[in-house]
Amino acid sequence: MKQTKLLILGGSGEAAALARALHGDARYDVTLSLAGRTREPVKLPGTIRTGGFGGAEGLARTLTDEKFDAVIDATYPFADQIKANAIEAARVAGVPLLAIRRLPWRPVEGDNWILVKDIEGAAVALGETAKRVFLTTGRDELRPFVKASQHFYLLRSVETPAADELPAQVELITARGPFRLEDELALLKQHAIDIVVTKNSGGEATYAKLEAARTLGLPVIMVRRPSLPEAPSVESVAAALDWLERHHVSANST
Ligand code: NAP
Repeated sequence: MKQTKLLILGGSGEAAALARALHGDARYDVTLSLAGRTREPVKLPGTIRTGGFGGAEGLARTLTDEKFDAVIDATYPFADQIKANAIEAARVAGVPLLAIRRLPWRPVEGDNWILVKDIEGAAVALGETAKRVFLTTGRDELRPFVKASQHFYLLRSVETPAADELPAQVELITARGPFRLEDELALLKQHAIDIVVTKNSGGEATYAKLEAARTLGLPVIMVRRPSLPEAPSVESVAAALDWLERHHVSANST
């Protein structure tokens, strides 16, 4: 039996779940690739490599030189550069690619979402009047909110941002999902939050804040997904495992 050598492009819950599911499965030789932005990533089993590849060209070289049989793009929904690079690199290297593209959240009755196209748009949509904002868009894109200094921000991110990148009026919470509805409700009430700002990352782990906003009748500024190039894709880790299994079986029957 020939092992399938798989590269997972990670940085998401799906990538972690996939790495855990495949660990110890002798049919696969798995490498998980992380960009290296998080100082303390979640501990995962198996081979992990860290840092960029040097664009699509560098990734194609890695796929060829290290003889990968397949690549699964399980990056965060807003990581549009690495997603495009993966498609191009897989094409150049002639390696099958599958993308896990989790569904975006959709508004339901009772939601009051203000849709914006990017983080700058989210800061503008907060308006001129001072508000108390629950901000969950990540520590890397704070500049537009630093400029909108009339607002108070309850900022939740996985890791602490640099002090000089923080808005003037801020309280910081470092935490990693999943989050529970009762905790999100308590947080929004305790900090007298007027409005929530989030990216439409989708998935269950961080959905509770949207339920909490709905329950309390609060508006949500929702940053839309970027448009992504077409790629063979599935919505879940289970479907990715099925794809991989089919790939492995067909590679071993030829
Ligand atoms: P991006 O703009 O699409 O990628 C920028 C560059 O970072 C890529 O061109 C690539 O460098 C490198 N890179 C990204 N993902 C990589 C990976 N898995 N392995 C190796 N290199 C990678 O992405 P971003 O928005 O900066 O996000 C960076 C990473 O953080 C992504 O992997 C994403 O999945 C993760 N992330 C996770 C969350 C979350 O909440 N789970 C939130 C934000 C970001 P080269 O061109 O040199 O190859």
